[in-house]
Amino acid sequence: MAYHGHVNSPLVEIRHADVVRDGRTILSIERFVVARGERIAVLGPNGAGKSTLLRLLARDVLPVFSERTAVLVGGRPLVPLFEVRSLLGVVSDALQSDYDRAVTVEDVVLSGFFGSIGLYRADEVSTPMRRRARTAMRDLGIEHLRDRTMDTLSTGEARRALIARALVNDPAALVLDEPCHGLDPSAAWHFRQTLRMLTRSDRAIVLVTHHVEDIVPEVHRVVLMKDGRIVADGPKHEIMTSGRLSDLFGFPMVLEERAGVYRAW
Ligand code: ADP
Ligand code: MG
Repeated sequence: MAYHGHVNSPLVEIRHADVVRDGRTILSIERFVVARGERIAVLGPNGAGKSTLLRLLARDVLPVFSERTAVLVGGRPLVPLFEVRSLLGVVSDALQSDYDRAVTVEDVVLSGFFGSIGLYRADEVSTPMRRRARTAMRDLGIEHLRDRTMDTLSTGEARRALIARALVNDPAALVLDEPCHGLDPSAAWHFRQTLRMLTRSDRAIVLVTHHVEDIVPEVHRVVLMKDGRIVADGPKHEIMTSGRLSDLFGFPMVLEERAGVYRAW
């Protein structure tokens, strides 16, 4: 069984964490908590600090040290990386560019077990691992692509492969950084249907985006980010208003909701 942390603690908790790059504070978080099973969208313009927040969760960046600073995963401060992986399945554009080469989809998905980039020895792969990889590919609708190499796939297909790779570890949370980035309208629509399918489990989802259309009906909490800070965090219906989003993006935006789907004018 995958390690999912202490049952009663939040999956992730960040307190008083600043990230500084080139002498500039690019992220400053007072408090951010992801509880088990939550379905969260993080919305904000380019440069808001969304990806940096995810990198902080995944331990790819470290906060500036202070007495009050804490980044807790499964309730604990110093979690080994392999345990972080079983808690958080992170899929980002950076990961996608690492993978844009002659590795088959099946090898990419299997590499999720080893936390490597398609590199492992065939004798390290067990039959249950192969089975889980097949199931993940089927869930993402890419089983037929398993012998194709990543550099021959469309953006949407490659992204599905990376999500399947994240799912083999049965993570307690799936973290997706702008999953519809670079998809044409049809691919984006189909991808959102897949997202809805992925939310029908007790797995938490953290969905980072700058498109309101990506906030699928299953999302119940929305976090707004701007200039490296969280400017609002609460129930979707409280946060998703024309006024708040106009302030967030800096232009007059009229938000419309129909059957749980948002559109901005
Ligand atoms: P978002 O994902 O919301 O678009 P990011 O988290 O990628 O925003 O970036 C937040 C800010 O931090 C941006 O202004 C970006 O230029 C800056 N930034 C991110 N990473 C670095 C880095 N490694 N060095 C310097 N600046 C960075
Ligand atoms: Mg980003």
